[in-house]
Amino acid sequence: MVDAATHPAGSGDETILDRARAALDQVCDPEIPVLTIRDIGILRDVRQDEDGTIEVIITPTYSGCPAMGMIAIEVELALARAGIDAHRVTLRHSPAWTTDWIPDSALEKLRAYGIAPPTKGSNSKRALFTNEVIACPRCGSSETDRISEFGSTACKALYRCRSCLEPFDYFKCI
Ligand SMILES: [Zn+2]
Repeated sequence: MVDAATHPAGSGDETILDRARAALDQVCDPEIPVLTIRDIGILRDVRQDEDGTIEVIITPTYSGCPAMGMIAIEVELALARAGIDAHRVTLRHSPAWTTDWIPDSALEKLRAYGIAPPTKGSNSKRALFTNEVIACPRCGSSETDRISEFGSTACKALYRCRSCLEPFDYFKCI
C-alpha cells in the first residue's frame, strides 16, 4: 500500500518513472501478501513512452490464474495513488513466467510465511508427478504427504507434515 505521506508527489529530483517504480514496488501478490509482484517476477518492466505515458508490463503466472485481473487493478490503483494518470498495463505472455524467476530472497519470505517454496532446477518440474520430497516449511521435516493437488488456490498444492502434523501449501513449480 502506498502511503501518500511517505511518498510526496514531486519531491526532489524524482521523475514520474521513479515514482511509478516506487509505487509498483508496494504492490503485493493478492494470493501471497508477503511477496510483491516484483518479488515474484510478475512485474517485468516499467517504462515511459515519448508522450509521457507510463507502461507497466506484467507477465501472468499460472495461466488462467484469477489473481491476474486483481493484479492489473492493483497496479492501476497504485499508479493512480502516486498521482500518475497517464498509464497503461500491458500483459506479456512470452517468455512464459516460471518459478525460476522468483529470487532466493523471495523464496525465503515464502517459507517464513508458511508456504513451501518451489524447488529450483530441472528436477522441480517433475515434482508434481513424482514422489519428490517437499520439506515442511515450519519444522523442516521431509516426512510430508500430499493431501490435495489444489491448496488454498489453484497455484498451490496442499501437503501435511507427519512430524508437526501441520498442513501447508506448496507453491507449485512451472
Ligand atoms: Zn512440520
